[in-house]
Amino acid sequence: MTYAQRRNHDRHYFDHPLDLIDGHVATPIISLQNPQIARRHLHAIAFAAFERDHVARGAAWHRTVESFFISLDHDGRAPVDNFVDWLRSRPEELLNTLLRTIPEDLSTSLGVQDWSWVDALTEESEVAQNHGWLKRAVGEVRQDFEDIEDQVKSVQLSIQEALQAGQHSKAEKVARYQSALLRERKTLADRRLINFLAQRVILPKYGFPVDVVSLDVWSQGDSNAVHVDLSRDLSLAITDFAPGSQLVADKALWESIGLRIPAGYALPDSVGVRCGDCGAFRTKRSGADASVCEVCASSSIGSQRGFVEPIFGFLGRRSGDKPGEARPPKTGFAKYYFSDYAGDPPEFRPVQLGQQIVEVRFSRQGEITVINPGPGEKGFMVCRSCGHTELAIASSAKKKANFSHERPRRSNQQCSSTLANRHLGHQFLTDVVEFRFPFSMTSSEAWSVTYALMAGLHAVGISQRDVSGVSRSTGLSPSSSIILFDAVPGGAGHAQRIAENITELAHAGLDVVRSCECGEDSSCYGCLRSYSNQQLHNVLVRGDAMHILESLLR
Ligand SMILES: [Zn+2]
Ligand SMILES: [Zn+2]
Ligand SMILES: [Zn+2]
Repeated sequence: MTYAQRRNHDRHYFDHPLDLIDGHVATPIISLQNPQIARRHLHAIAFAAFERDHVARGAAWHRTVESFFISLDHDGRAPVDNFVDWLRSRPEELLNTLLRTIPEDLSTSLGVQDWSWVDALTEESEVAQNHGWLKRAVGEVRQDFEDIEDQVKSVQLSIQEALQAGQHSKAEKVARYQSALLRERKTLADRRLINFLAQRVILPKYGFPVDVVSLDVWSQGDSNAVHVDLSRDLSLAITDFAPGSQLVADKALWESIGLRIPAGYALPDSVGVRCGDCGAFRTKRSGADASVCEVCASSSIGSQRGFVEPIFGFLGRRSGDKPGEARPPKTGFAKYYFSDYAGDPPEFRPVQLGQQIVEVRFSRQGEITVINPGPGEKGFMVCRSCGHTELAIASSAKKKANFSHERPRRSNQQCSSTLANRHLGHQFLTDVVEFRFPFSMTSSEAWSVTYALMAGLHAVGISQRDVSGVSRSTGLSPSSSIILFDAVPGGAGHAQRIAENITELAHAGLDVVRSCECGEDSSCYGCLRSYSNQQLHNVLVRGDAMHILESLLR
């Protein structure tokens, strides 16, 4: 038995139940060329070698966060510091293993030969914002422990003062708070090291997804929360874990209340800009001078909105509500944009398609921006100091009265920093293929053709889930190019395969839109629509996609 809701997605599968279980299963493909995944495997090889060496000398594995980051080895140093020193000593055996395991072109770009991968792991960099994964993890763990130990000490003082003043019931109450703090410390200390390193994207988790963040619910001293592991690719997390969202895990309901900001760090803060002339989307660092449009060179700005990237993850707690029968709500929705090519854009090359010439270019360095604009596109009110975040709609009245809000990590502590109105976003580089057709398309036509091509992906052995598509203005108004890209950051090789098989893809897409039985001035789940493009359902027109692909392939 199943429940179906009264919406297109559910109705389609209710009417066509076979579509749920029947179909062509593509051969799985694994790309060895993903630099992010290779880098994490490289870390795993090094970490395993370090631990083996440690055990060979008669010591125990480092199983917990505390045993690796906080406890001291017999030499009086934390194991993580010994690990870094060992890497800096450039052990030759490790180098040989890495050269044997990592494909040659990747080992050059990751810096295996010259050991620059160690700097990337252990130092932050002006150039590559995300470098310094291990350094951030060390800072985060030590800060958490210091915070709690400071609190335990100050609480110890209040207990003594209360006892000296003869206030026994007060002393008892404070002592209970102290044991709660010690439990919280233990929760932090006993986290499994390998899970933690995977959540901080130092070690590989499942291979995919790669830009992984978690919704940390354990920080509230809730002992059941230790078993809860909520993590997602950041592209999904900006909606699934957006403050206001709820999730079911371990038979309980959890809610997101803010963004994690380790002490001494700030979240990347950027602005998404729409060109005032051609409508192309681009991004810039918040506070940077407005750049000119890469497409039409105009400096006119149509619209702009700030977004923060929650790269350190999210903070949550147990919800007061109980899990119900319906899936709990998500806050907002994801919108994908192509923002730019990192470095110089590749040259278009002409490809003959039927009687027509289509221009195609492929890059491993296409920058995709995914934005969650929040309910009603009103965004979120974000404290960039403590991470407290609430919906912009809910907070407007409160905002005028008072900026003071509760810190997400320590309930009963207030923060008076100003809340800023921001969307949540994530930017990543991945494999992209861009098509330019020899005629103009409206934006609606371009979206329809984009999803028609995606409906043909099975014909070139790619699952529709692994690729996303967007249309981009080309500045030759009213026209658009179509961009298909690998959904996994860093790319998995799909876009390249598409670039090499555009004719098959176009024919397969045309077959889908031709043979569908829905109205030609509309679309359905059998042709262009999918669960993930719900925001676009009303602009997807099967007949438009069919006529454009027919005219191309004639
Ligand atoms: Zn422009
Ligand atoms: Zn704050
Ligand atoms: Zn249809």
